[in-house]
Amino acid sequence: MFPVYIYSDSPSQSLVMQGVTGFLSDLGLSVEFRGDFLSCLSLGEEEMAEIESLLSRARVFNIETPVDFLETHLLSEPFEKELYDGFWIQRIFSRFFLRKRPGELAKSGFHAVITGRLLGTYGSRRYHARVVISGFPSFVSTSGLVEGPARPREYYFLKAEFIRSGKDLSELNEAFRGKFVDYEDERITKITGSYVLQPLLHHFSGKEFCENSGCVLFNSHWQKEVLDIQYSGFLCAECESEIRKVAKRR
Ligand SMILES: [Zn+2]
Repeated sequence: MFPVYIYSDSPSQSLVMQGVTGFLSDLGLSVEFRGDFLSCLSLGEEEMAEIESLLSRARVFNIETPVDFLETHLLSEPFEKELYDGFWIQRIFSRFFLRKRPGELAKSGFHAVITGRLLGTYGSRRYHARVVISGFPSFVSTSGLVEGPARPREYYFLKAEFIRSGKDLSELNEAFRGKFVDYEDERITKITGSYVLQPLLHHFSGKEFCENSGCVLFNSHWQKEVLDIQYSGFLCAECESEIRKVAKRR
């Protein structure tokens, strides 16, 4: 059976990994949770220091400027919403994986890291928060679920008002509670499971999204869509049969 390897990386407190792996197993996939990605590589002290330094260079300091990997910043320097350049994080993780487990890449398998880090990709003159980064390894970011898909239009309208009048934004968040995925939201587990299927399908067919707005592989842009569609965990017949085909591969 084709193996699906799931890892975590500073995960959200409300994420129940068993919920994610259970959802995938129910689709016939052979899933193994390997724990924290970097711990699983058993890095030595020097390698840990090396990776820390590389990860710090992948931080986004200005949302309108692509990360310059050769530039060094002080670790204490504040950066945008703790945002990282998703492709750099991916390169760093894959580099260490290849170094520590060179034999494993030749074997078939899909590797996805469920991360609490906020990952962005640069395009149209600024960084955009992403829920999914496909590739090796693939990432599903629980912080991306909060910051990526747009909140209701009224939220942004009121937010501007709140900022103008110096009011506390937590009041606004309270008023809109339940209308968007929040940090430590208990719905994160179910939604994350759905999102793992996107890079998985992409890995096999190049297809990342489904046109069916009732299917978890639909490309949601709004929080409301995420809460309706990805939270439902429903796959259309065509996508479900594709995922079950993946499960049967070797
Ligand atoms: Zn579908």
